[in-house]
Amino acid sequence: MKLLPFAFDVLHLSFVSFTIHHHLPYLAAMEITSAKYLISSPGYLKCPPPDRPEYAFIGRSNVGKSSLINMLCNNHKLAKTSASPGKTQMINHFSIESTSADRNTGQWYIVDLPGYGFAKVSQQQRKQWQQMTEDYLRRRPNLMNVFVLVDSRHRPQKADIDFTNLLGEWGVPFSIVFTKADKATQQEVSKNIKLYLNEMKKYWEFLPASYATSTVKKLGRNKILDAIGEMNKLFEG
Ligand code: GDP
Repeated sequence: MKLLPFAFDVLHLSFVSFTIHHHLPYLAAMEITSAKYLISSPGYLKCPPPDRPEYAFIGRSNVGKSSLINMLCNNHKLAKTSASPGKTQMINHFSIESTSADRNTGQWYIVDLPGYGFAKVSQQQRKQWQQMTEDYLRRRPNLMNVFVLVDSRHRPQKADIDFTNLLGEWGVPFSIVFTKADKATQQEVSKNIKLYLNEMKKYWEFLPASYATSTVKKLGRNKILDAIGEMNKLFEG
């Protein structure tokens, strides 16, 4: 049985919050004031100086990663929603400025990592992706958390489970973001989330934080931003 590297809060499980709380008004303690594309890097050594907290977003291609980043930043053009899956093979940095309820301003990075699990790439491209991503995830010193995106319409997929297990082996903290929660009924979404977390329980003693999101309904935005705000406080530059 593996232990998560962080003491994740089981009460954050989103199938609970999604079904019970999502009708309630929820004010974010943090708001993004500026979000700009910065640079695309072919490897972790070429990334910008690790002088501020960083959050990486990753998932199978077409999971809704670009849409989620755009929703978080309130900018529908920031990350390109994919025309051809797997097109971008770089580590993409976005520079973010935010303010919190206590009027503290913050600077941090969002990182858009290339998607995994698409069929149309060569063995060599896949190896390259694996190496670049593994190096980045294991060695980037300012990486606070990885948000692993999982499509809430599907039953647990091996590629996602395998990937989160790898993160565990590497000691990289992560949360799960269930995407496209508007596409199925609330019951189906809750069922799939439960199934997914039950599958994770086979490998994990504690479950990570998880969020149900919809970019169409703007669901999950505040909770993710607030979690980032909390983690920003833990950053020691
Ligand atoms: P990426 O390849 O992971 O970056 O995925 P995209 O953000 O490009 O999204 C893939 C497709 O799913 C696009 O057609 C999006 O419009 C759609 N999509 C993404 N998120 C949502 C969502 O929350 N709800 C719905 N209904 N569609 C979504």
